Amino acid sequence: MPRPITARIHPEAVRHNVGLIKQMTPTSRVWTVVKANAYGHGIERIYPALAQADGIALLDLDEAVRVRELGWTKPILLLEGIFEPVDVELADNHRLTVAVHCNEQLQLLAAARPRRPIDIMLKMNSGMNRLGFRPQVFRDAWERASALPSVGSVGLMNHFATADDGAIDWQLDEFDAATQGMPGEQSLSNSAGVLWHPRAHRDWVRPGTILYGASPTGVARDVADFGLRAAMTLTSRIIGVQTLAPQETVGYGRTFRADQPMRIGVVACGYADGYPRHAPSGTPIAVDGVRTRIVGRVSMDMLTVDLTPCPQAAIGSTVELWGDQVKVDEVAEASGTIGYELMCALARRVPVEVTGAAGATTAAAQTPQTACTTN
Ligand SMILES: *Cc1c(COP(=O)(O)O)cnc(C)c1O
Repeated sequence: MPRPITARIHPEAVRHNVGLIKQMTPTSRVWTVVKANAYGHGIERIYPALAQADGIALLDLDEAVRVRELGWTKPILLLEGIFEPVDVELADNHRLTVAVHCNEQLQLLAAARPRRPIDIMLKMNSGMNRLGFRPQVFRDAWERASALPSVGSVGLMNHFATADDGAIDWQLDEFDAATQGMPGEQSLSNSAGVLWHPRAHRDWVRPGTILYGASPTGVARDVADFGLRAAMTLTSRIIGVQTLAPQETVGYGRTFRADQPMRIGVVACGYADGYPRHAPSGTPIAVDGVRTRIVGRVSMDMLTVDLTPCPQAAIGSTVELWGDQVKVDEVAEASGTIGYELMCALARRVPVEVTGAAGATTAAAQTPQTACTTN
């Protein structure tokens, strides 16, 4: 029998979330972002749930090819664009739309002879200072891109640095001023823009994390009112029980000390499964459907929980690490990170099941690379 840990992926939750996003952005089209192997969920597993989306956005050419091979005929956007000449060929063969954020990428396109002009999204750096043309040179880049015979449509793209925790006007005003009168479809908003900045919805939105039911802020209560559903449930079981006497400790470093007699459950899940080692005592977890807390340090293959609120729990009891009862963002917040990182870091050794439309669980079509293979 394998270790009792399992990740369940729920395509129906993704389908539901896509529907919510469409309702929130009624005049925009939706690029669903599935980079990093669909934020750790597996592109192939959630692909059927994206039928209502207007496009798919990702980073890796091999993921783009996988999506085409699954039968996707609508647009695919490469969020970081191309890196070398052969990429233009692949973009041509697979009809990919490519982000263009620097002169080097314009030169690659200028040197290429694709069979069909490549559609691009010209990216502005309006203050994030990662990728993109600065507002002062954006019009010049746009004119050069538009003049290239190898380039088809030229869209206008931007990425916000603070859409999750404040105002975006400092970037949006820059973008609008620099693109005044410029034709082209606009795409500015990630998940946080979708939820909180309708002014920035424009022609195409690019939600990622909310597709999977996680919060752009990393704080579960910030999205509690939107009705998003969790696309991943990580469960395991209790494999050992200890009763501590007062002043006894549990685990490495003796970081948790019982102040009264206390039952402790040992759970088959550790940091080698993708559970954060930084999760401190007090991080929420559910045992037999009852919320409780982890106590002591997370070790490689195990962690320990306080069974005081669930005295009936015993070896074999079901544990939810994250999912419906405990949001991935709650675990992330306690651990000083965001749900994105935990979803993407689900370890390859964790067996994955896909829940079917009827709620039944089916074994996933397992291929070695279907665990999260990218960062
Ligand atoms: C990852 C990414 C997104 C999606 O971001 P979320 O915060 O997950 O919604 C959108 N646009 C770009 C350019 C990205 O890299």
